[in-house]
Amino acid sequence: MKKPAILGGKPAFEQPLHVGRPNLPNRKVFDKYVDRIFDKRWLTNNGPLVREFQEKLEEFLQVKHCIPICNGTIALEITERALGFVDDVVLPSYTFIATAHSLQWQRIRPVFADIGEYSVTINPRSIKQVLTPNTNGIIGVHVYGHPCDHKAICGISKQHNIRVIYDAAHAFGCEVNGVPIASIGDASIFSFHATKFFHTFEGGIVATNDSSLAREIFLMTNFGFTGNDDVSYLGINGKMTEIAAAMGLSMLDSIESIRSKNLANYQYYKTSLSEIDGLEIIEPPSSLSKNNWQYVIAKLDEKEFGISRDLTVEALKAENIFARRYFYPGCHRLYPYRTCRYKNYSLRNTENLADQVISFPTGQSVNESDIKRIAQLLHLIKLNKAKLQKIDIDYN
Ligand SMILES: *Cc1c(COP(=O)(O)O)cnc(C)c1O
Repeated sequence: MKKPAILGGKPAFEQPLHVGRPNLPNRKVFDKYVDRIFDKRWLTNNGPLVREFQEKLEEFLQVKHCIPICNGTIALEITERALGFVDDVVLPSYTFIATAHSLQWQRIRPVFADIGEYSVTINPRSIKQVLTPNTNGIIGVHVYGHPCDHKAICGISKQHNIRVIYDAAHAFGCEVNGVPIASIGDASIFSFHATKFFHTFEGGIVATNDSSLAREIFLMTNFGFTGNDDVSYLGINGKMTEIAAAMGLSMLDSIESIRSKNLANYQYYKTSLSEIDGLEIIEPPSSLSKNNWQYVIAKLDEKEFGISRDLTVEALKAENIFARRYFYPGCHRLYPYRTCRYKNYSLRNTENLADQVISFPTGQSVNESDIKRIAQLLHLIKLNKAKLQKIDIDYN
């Protein structure tokens, strides 16, 4: 029998498999858009491709306004500012660090709420517990595309007169109970970073049905200019380039094929991993009526599996499988938040999930046989637990 690579065997994969390896559109389609950029010599500043991309996105996401932006983080920052977020804003700790940084960067205080015991999204009960008299914003994150409990969050927002942004960086092309996910909340932001299901190299958008908010955000992406020599808002450079829009337009052509590929991969993982005790795939909730299947997430129960989550990730890495602990350890345990005195309430569910989670590679460059081999390797790792337990890792 093969020896696990971490114990000196040969790595099972010659070519490494990574979480977040970019999906790519048809090259010929992309090249045609690039030709148009060169023909026109229009590279940025709300060019024709950006405008075409914007219209197609509004149709695809079924939302009144999309404002193309240079990345998801700036999309968050501009939206927070346009909505007047100051003082305290509630968000989950279980998210990518950019959600918290977008606030802190503007000296708005991130107040972390917990996720639910059985969900990966912010728990409305926890939001209520952490509200302060100075809270004037909530950011819900549709983690892994799983929709936040919008009904409950909307109730809190109405009761306390607080506005709501959704960080929908994971939820492009998703629907919640048949409703396009971009149409809930005051505004949603999407990230089109290269590692996302749908991307524009770097990029993002704000989506909203609020026309005056959309106009303000649009002006803020271009320094607040309202005319050649007139500035009406404090703005920043948040513009999307034409080459990014070219990628986005060609990716839109491939999106349904990428979605089906992700779904097929998810199903292979589900079948292969279900035979392994101690590993459990996190399934999407039934409210997620349309999914992009961009993440394959499992929880590893150390007692049942026999080896710690961190050692398992290390053992996979030695085989050239770069699974990720996504989102470990939770924003509240990272700089600069870990020294803040936020902790008069519990983030127990966040910490439990962060300590068990593994994200597996999927997307265009992963296929059925890769997934079967990954499952076999997990069996092999389990079989060698006695030897593996002796390995000391210093993962941080
Ligand atoms: C990727 C991501 C972002 C940041 O987007 P960028 O385009 O990389 O700036 C924000 N929030 C979440 C949840 C993300 O996954």
